[in-house]
Amino acid sequence: MVLSIHNISKAYGKIQALNDVSFDVPQGSVFGILGPNGSGKTTLLSIILDVLEANKGHFDWFGHPSSPDQRKKIGSLLETPNFYHYMSAINNLKITSSISGRGDAASIDTVLQKVNLFERRKSRFSSYSLGMKQRLAIGAALLGDPRVLVLDEPTNGLDPVGIAEIRDLMMELNRKGHTIIMASHLLDEVEKVCTHVVILKKGNVITTGPVDEVLMDEDIVEIGSANSEQLLQIASEYSSIATVKREGNYVQLVLIKGSARLEDVNRFFFERGVVLNHLLLKKKRLEARFFELTNN
Ligand code: ADP
Repeated sequence: MVLSIHNISKAYGKIQALNDVSFDVPQGSVFGILGPNGSGKTTLLSIILDVLEANKGHFDWFGHPSSPDQRKKIGSLLETPNFYHYMSAINNLKITSSISGRGDAASIDTVLQKVNLFERRKSRFSSYSLGMKQRLAIGAALLGDPRVLVLDEPTNGLDPVGIAEIRDLMMELNRKGHTIIMASHLLDEVEKVCTHVVILKKGNVITTGPVDEVLMDEDIVEIGSANSEQLLQIASEYSSIATVKREGNYVQLVLIKGSARLEDVNRFFFERGVVLNHLLLKKKRLEARFFELTNN
């Protein structure tokens, strides 16, 4: 295992950001930490990068507790680095390298090639597209040739072209042997690039494992009420990791398996003034999958 997390908990005052979180990141994976905003993703990344301290639990990198030596094998991008707008990619990376002590002048060309910016290495940063700027940021994380890359919401704020560029780059880096750990609130993104996933909700692990097992494993909850328009509207607020669809007089919620019990669904609607006259759990994995593929 590249990373093993054991029973990590973290609170900010009264806010329990992480609650007894455990999972393993296998060597060679693209590992997605998936969850809606506020589910604890950034907190977790900060802990495994030694930026924050957990209140409870521990984690091992490469089978050992974190140490400066281990940290050299990990490149990270938690926030966008402050690049100089009037400088080229080469000079920006030289500065980042000398500040962080990672990599050397000779390795900068290799990094630029890895993130497909070598041709544009002498252009000013300000002339770059959003995707190129983010690729340079990933380049900065690659200085020192780390085995693992930790990225927080790597496609946030990018346009569709930039998103596709970063997605391709992550897959390419993974093929070249880097294990990638990334946080995302986008189910779609995780499904496209990740081999493994952990799903967090309010600081708790809902499920973890290979993407095709976890994301295939879905429950459909079918619900009905007197006012189906209102029902659809409220259903769309249910969770950012659920898919909502109208099905005749009913509304269907496609949920990741285990993320909701019928009582919770019922309570959610009741608390919003909706009395359900139909509530049915349908466990049909392939049908759920098919339905998702054909209805979006
Ligand atoms: P995510 O990255 O999934 O959006 P975060 O780890 O940023 O989630 O936040 C998890 C929870 O902890 C949220 O409820 C958030 O408001 C809270 N939180 C995060 N950082 C702090 C902080 N520095 N002080 C207080 N609460 C925080």
